[in-house]
Amino acid sequence: MNTEFGGWAGYVLRVDLTNNIIKKESTNKYHNYIGGMGIGYKVLWDNHKDGIKATDEGNRLIISAGPLSGSGAICSARTTITSRSPVIRQHLITDGHFGGHFSPELKYAGYDAIIIEGKSPTPVWLKIIDDEVTLEPADTIWGKGMFDTFAAVAKMMGQQAQVAAIGPAGENLVSQSTIQTQGGHSAGGHGAVLGSKQLKAIGVIGSGVVNVVANNEQLRKLDDHILGIIGANNQGVVPHQPQTWAEYSSSISRWRGGPGVKWGAADNPVDVGETPWNDRQKVGMRTSMAEMYFGREEANKIFKRPSGCHSCPIRCFCEVKNPKMKTEYKLPTDNISNTCMGFLDPWYVMGLPGNSEKRTDIQTVGAYHMDNYGVWSAYGQLSHIMREFITRDFWKELLPAQEFAAINWQQQKDLDAHFMEDFYTRLAFGLQYNGSNILGRFLGKGVHEFINEEGELYNIQDVLNGVETPRMAKLSFNLESDAAYGLLGKTYSVFLDKGVKVFNRSMVGGTHHASETAGQVGALLNTVFNRDPQCHSHINLVNCGLPYGKISEVADKMWGAGAFDPVKHYKPMNIAKAKFAKWCLVKNVLHDSLTLCNWMFPLIVSPDAKKDYQGDSSIESQMFSLVTGIQTSEQELDDKAEGILQLHRALSVLQMQEMDQRNQHDVLTEWVYDLDPDKVFGDEGTIKMGREDMQLGLDLFYAEMGWDRETGTPTRATLEKFKLGYVADKLESLGLLPA
Ligand code: SF4
Repeated sequence: MNTEFGGWAGYVLRVDLTNNIIKKESTNKYHNYIGGMGIGYKVLWDNHKDGIKATDEGNRLIISAGPLSGSGAICSARTTITSRSPVIRQHLITDGHFGGHFSPELKYAGYDAIIIEGKSPTPVWLKIIDDEVTLEPADTIWGKGMFDTFAAVAKMMGQQAQVAAIGPAGENLVSQSTIQTQGGHSAGGHGAVLGSKQLKAIGVIGSGVVNVVANNEQLRKLDDHILGIIGANNQGVVPHQPQTWAEYSSSISRWRGGPGVKWGAADNPVDVGETPWNDRQKVGMRTSMAEMYFGREEANKIFKRPSGCHSCPIRCFCEVKNPKMKTEYKLPTDNISNTCMGFLDPWYVMGLPGNSEKRTDIQTVGAYHMDNYGVWSAYGQLSHIMREFITRDFWKELLPAQEFAAINWQQQKDLDAHFMEDFYTRLAFGLQYNGSNILGRFLGKGVHEFINEEGELYNIQDVLNGVETPRMAKLSFNLESDAAYGLLGKTYSVFLDKGVKVFNRSMVGGTHHASETAGQVGALLNTVFNRDPQCHSHINLVNCGLPYGKISEVADKMWGAGAFDPVKHYKPMNIAKAKFAKWCLVKNVLHDSLTLCNWMFPLIVSPDAKKDYQGDSSIESQMFSLVTGIQTSEQELDDKAEGILQLHRALSVLQMQEMDQRNQHDVLTEWVYDLDPDKVFGDEGTIKMGREDMQLGLDLFYAEMGWDRETGTPTRATLEKFKLGYVADKLESLGLLPA
């Protein structure tokens, strides 16, 4: 171990694929950046190259763990992946994250991060067994699906191996592709980066430990405290349905486990029954998410058990068994484990049908193909466009006639899950697909490649054929519902179409926990990052299930009066909301650096009525102090995280070569303001935002962040406050620092 502190493993691996050189470097220089995402940003800043694309040899990709990962700290096993992403406009920096067991194993092998550079001349995989780190030929696994790749690497290394890999989508340089690890855990947006480097997989086995400075008694005390305030996934702290022990229940809570919920496909079926908050034996039964994705009746038939990440008692994944996957859809398995987009994206593609056996087939078969091919959908970007363009009858115009005729549209219409195989095969194989595949190549690239400044589509075949001045696509708004917006007959734009849910001009991805759940707070969060920030800090409060008054009390205490509005009933912007938004992002960055699950933390509410449902926002610093031995207050740790957030903003400025983030980056799409024409911003029942109010939001948020009001770029004083004077120097030398 190369560190006087606990937590960090002590070394970072630098893997130069071009020259087959692997070096160990000390982690110490990254301590100020905590770990995970912080290491990723620091490496990319230090090695910045102007104007490169995500799939260029000069791009780097960093896979990193944080100081808590592998320590046994509750919910601490996330892995962060940082790189430029091909699915984002200008291929700006993004982060993806997966759970599972990979980052703890990496720490046990002695490493906090892997920096991947260059490009291998032939396909390889990286084998890490403690100090033995080698690049191995990948000719036997290149071309294989994700599941076979995991199995093959584990066979070569041993069953203990934790494996991160790409599927055919990453190999084929599909922008919408994942890096995944076993158990359905996937990180989006960077599969093609590994594909471009010809790195198929990383297998790791570690025989070491993570040094924890605190003694067992101290750790147990903290665990007890956490288990007294932790809820279900997304910090749902009251049950979804009434239970005898609970004062409240709420339909938005993810505390799904309760009477009537069954793990019906388990070898010995389980009836979950009541799940009292203080029954520690049932913490892992609370979340029981299957019914959220499949409905009670279907879930009770197919749900085997919850699953999830190393050191997590919550288990937000669903392992399900659908025998028809084998019998009717001829897949090699009838089991699938996933949560969230793996189950949702196929459902979106097929037009959001109601709960039924057909929906179950669509979701299980779709999740299998998505995961096996390593296809990503940026919070539904793929599927929203697919579905909306079917509704609008656009594909006939966009695709060659022969290709249009070859696609079995009737299957989609009939909700036939056989459609899933061809759909995800088109996406994953791009040019390699056997036949014309404009549809897959278009959706797989990410829509930003195909639109002008107004969000109008170019002729997608021209773009794919590399025509220098592509024609515009001949698409216009054509639905009856467009008339209410005054759009009927006007040139089609993804920025005006609420159906495709592009929330922010920069990220060009599906709306995610933005104004639809937290008004201006959600909208502000979704302007700062280059993809959606994958932020649940606000959701873990907004969706906790407590009544509005209780949530409001907590929010007022934390950020000031008026920080929190009921969902879809938003009052005008104020300083408390700006503070709330900043707090959410700081905690989010903290979690992705520690690496702690932001689908659970921060825990600012609890299920304990005797505590008046109060949580504790300082858990993270308590964990950090006990594990590392560095006594750190909540504020001190938040300051470190804020420094990382400032570095992220500076990286966006640098990569865009653009100081005017306000007008070139932090811009919401038009539909967000124009939605629900019969309502005005602030009316009950709408998520629409107000144009002037949003500008005020940016003013107040920038002031909280110490960013220049006019441009939204961090000032020198702000950067220096966070020990980022070297960042200010570089931006200034390039004319990118506000005066
Ligand atoms: S809540 Fe879900 S994603 Fe988070 S650590 Fe637990 S299993 Fe993993």
